[in-house]
Amino acid sequence: MALKQNEQDLLDRVQSGLGIAGTWQPSSSNATFDVKDPATGEVIKSIADASVEDAVRALDAAVAAQDAWAATPTRERSNILRRAFDLLMERKEEFALLMSIEMGKPISEARGEVNYGGEFLRWFSEEAVRVHGDYRQNPEGTGTMMVSHLPVGPCYFITPWNFPLAMATRKIAPALAAGCTVVIKPAALTPLTTIFFVQLLEEVGLPAGVVNVVPTSKASAQSSALLSDTRLRKLSFTGSTPVGVKLLEAAAQNVLRTSMELGGNAPFVVFEDADLDKAVEGAMLAKFRNIGQACTAANRIIVHESVADEFAKKVAEKVAAFKIGRGAEEDVQIGALIDDKAVANSARLVADAVENGATVVTGGEIIDGPGNFFQPTVIDKLSPQAAIMREEIFGPVLGIIRFSTEDEAVEIANNTEYGLVSYVFTENIARGHRMIEKLESGMMGLNTGIVSNAAAPFGGVKQSGLGREGGAEGIHEFLSTKYTLIPR
Ligand code: NAD
Repeated sequence: MALKQNEQDLLDRVQSGLGIAGTWQPSSSNATFDVKDPATGEVIKSIADASVEDAVRALDAAVAAQDAWAATPTRERSNILRRAFDLLMERKEEFALLMSIEMGKPISEARGEVNYGGEFLRWFSEEAVRVHGDYRQNPEGTGTMMVSHLPVGPCYFITPWNFPLAMATRKIAPALAAGCTVVIKPAALTPLTTIFFVQLLEEVGLPAGVVNVVPTSKASAQSSALLSDTRLRKLSFTGSTPVGVKLLEAAAQNVLRTSMELGGNAPFVVFEDADLDKAVEGAMLAKFRNIGQACTAANRIIVHESVADEFAKKVAEKVAAFKIGRGAEEDVQIGALIDDKAVANSARLVADAVENGATVVTGGEIIDGPGNFFQPTVIDKLSPQAAIMREEIFGPVLGIIRFSTEDEAVEIANNTEYGLVSYVFTENIARGHRMIEKLESGMMGLNTGIVSNAAAPFGGVKQSGLGREGGAEGIHEFLSTKYTLIPR
């Protein structure tokens, strides 16, 4: 299936080079790699494959731009971010289409991601001018203590493929607001949206070298080189926990500041006193958004035994009615998964669950190609031994496990090394409050299936990560605290 003319025209406007120091250039090795449409398997663009040398030049550029950017008045930094927000909103359709083509998500969700990703630009344009310190008396009365917050310096960002725009803006916006410069490495599966976004930043007047983009097929070599460079001041990574652990080990050599937004295994608990329709609606969002490929995806649907039959029936009716297809087509609700490995993984997890006693209520099969499609699936009566209870599914598979007491629900929910987000459905206020205290997660949706918001601190506990993105907390990931004593 050939690309449509408007799709080809859009792809032609995306740079195929590396964005270093305000110019677009080929790789020093002249290497390129292909980007594919996961719904068709077709190559849609070849782009420059950054060598280690290119990445070091990108860091050179970020280091060279750092002092001037930190000295740029906060109002000016704020205005650039605000203009970026305005232009992104004008170009919403283009960014949504590009994301949908390179990543597979339904176009309506891609528009939602432009809104969400854009909000970080607006939010941090507002935060940029509100960074302040404080001024204290020392207890001895012999001096004053000044506490100020200064930009940490050049940052390195590594982002995943599942939210190509929002994972970039969630890091770039607070860094720019704080006065830091950036080298970003988007996922090799979905580099085009980040490149196009860096082009947009140039258009709104971001000075050369402040944000540099170096996609590569050799992520490990690139990160090793940059993390061992003592000019780098901060690593912010979003991706899987095993890769996060490797990067933390490498970052430890220079005691580098790090933020880690890692994997999840979200429990979605439906109590017997829940509003069941609200819970069903929440589960559809929390599970099937982004075709299940979200760190916040509900991974284990933990339902009280007295309402589980009805819950399973209601979700299965909705799931069976999903429109499946290429995400760029209007009205599609379930697009292609990112690659064939993701399809095989969903198939493996369903087969394993069935072997362990679960029943398939709807779906459960691979859809023949072209493209990477798996049927949206509901499985019920999961046993605690099923691999789904431990592993991130990252596919359109909703698995239900039943419980009988509140303590049992809490035990199942917390029985994971992850702790990003949890969802709880109950109409009992006291129980809701108990769950806020008892569930081990950095975020919680109480009677809602979606929590992400630029104004909120996004992040996890346990092996889901370190640090917070968004909210008032987000900018402090890019500031270091300095205390000065001034004797009287
Ligand atoms: P991944 O860890 O495989 O890759 C993430 C990024 O790291 C990519 O850019 C990849 O190229 C790069 N990378 C891989 N190996 C590397 C290495 N050795 N050195 C340096 N970079 C390396 O994850 P993914 O498959 O792209 O994304 C899915 C994962 O991301 C899931 O675990 C998901 O939960 C997590 N995620 C977390 C959040 C969050 O905010 N907590 C958000 C989105 C995704």
